[in-house]
Amino acid sequence: MAYLIAIDDGHGMSTAGKRTPRLPDSRVMKENEFNRAVAALLDAHLRRSGFRTLLVAPTDSDTPLRERTRAANNAKVDFYISIHANAYGNGWNSVRGIETYHFTGGNEGRKAAEIIHRYLLGGTVLPNRGVKNRKNLAVLRDTLMPAVLVECAFMTNLDDALLLLSDSYRAECARELALGICEYFGVPFNAGSGGGTDEASEENPEEEPGEGGGEEVIQMTAEDANKIIRFLSAAYFATDSAEARKEFNRLANELRLVSGQEPQ
Ligand SMILES: [Zn+2]
Repeated sequence: MAYLIAIDDGHGMSTAGKRTPRLPDSRVMKENEFNRAVAALLDAHLRRSGFRTLLVAPTDSDTPLRERTRAANNAKVDFYISIHANAYGNGWNSVRGIETYHFTGGNEGRKAAEIIHRYLLGGTVLPNRGVKNRKNLAVLRDTLMPAVLVECAFMTNLDDALLLLSDSYRAECARELALGICEYFGVPFNAGSGGGTDEASEENPEEEPGEGGGEEVIQMTAEDANKIIRFLSAAYFATDSAEARKEFNRLANELRLVSGQEPQ
């Protein structure tokens, strides 16, 4: 029988407080936007790799923690993963990085947390804040199986928040969580046909040449665009000029467009 994995997306869409401060382009990201996107991608990776999955909070509302853990316990899942983004204080600050939690004293949870944490760190330049244990996190305490809670980056750090907003970082986290869970269970990771690393290429059919007077089609990966957008955000904060800020927003949206992302 295939292993059964409980996937927990942390919070509801409108859970109070769980969101970024106001971003330079004036939008706010709710934590659940990130958690839910990663949960959906992880679900697909795990099922493709032969696992069964149980989404313990499948709706937009904030399923109470007790219901989440009870659903996992009743279904006798083999492993519980809870996906989060971190926060420190209320405004922007320099605290950033990745943390992974397991229940105090649980050897299997610790083992799984260490494997998953190693994968999460592998793909990014984010600081390593370590594998930690907690006695009173409900989803770790009240689950009867090994359980791990990941904090993939800080919503209260601008660099981290821009990563949390990006499709490429969400995809990366989901893939790394899947790789870690596969390793913990000794199950080969199935990346799908073609390796699944170049998702952008299939969505952009070839342009017809010659039309539009030889206009060049410029393309950039979302990852590269977001790196440059991070510099623009820093410049945005460094100036008081409304004119300059408007221009930085315009340039950020140009970059989003050429990298296939929604302007904001
Ligand atoms: Zn959270």
